[in-house]
Amino acid sequence: MTRQIYRDPGAGAIEFGKQYVIGHKEFDLLSMSRLLDGDLHDPTDKRVKRCDYCGYFWRDDSLRNTRKTCSEECKRGIRTLQRRQQRADQELLNPNPKPKKRTLMDDYVYWLEYPYWGDEYSMLKVGWKYEVPHKASTIDYIEAKNELYGEGNRVKPKRVIDYHGDNRDDF
Ligand SMILES: [Zn+2]
Repeated sequence: MTRQIYRDPGAGAIEFGKQYVIGHKEFDLLSMSRLLDGDLHDPTDKRVKRCDYCGYFWRDDSLRNTRKTCSEECKRGIRTLQRRQQRADQELLNPNPKPKKRTLMDDYVYWLEYPYWGDEYSMLKVGWKYEVPHKASTIDYIEAKNELYGEGNRVKPKRVIDYHGDNRDDF
């Protein structure tokens, strides 16, 4: 038999353990080890199982009794482990991935106190999208339209004005 691995107990495991601990003055270390070994609960109860992540017993109250972890935290934890494993496998199978294609944006040194472009061509090609050189009148026009319609070219939904102070106009 392999040694059981325990992590911080999840909410479901704690909820399950409570019923044996709270209100039982005689609960001691021996009872604890029996709880962990699964000797305290009814072994025929198929809903009581070990959480795949934290390793403690818990009771699955889901409709189809198909959950593997006792709580959302444990589910998240096991996903993290799976992702880590996937990344490690990926690294092993493909140790030298193709280097990322260079983009014009790579010439923008943004992480210093004063950001600057390392290449003029990239600056002209990318920069104009963010700092469009408009006339003042054009900017006024854009601002006015933004006021009216909001940003992103989306027309604000028409508001229904309630004339009577109640919802009798809805029908
Ligand atoms: Zn758990």
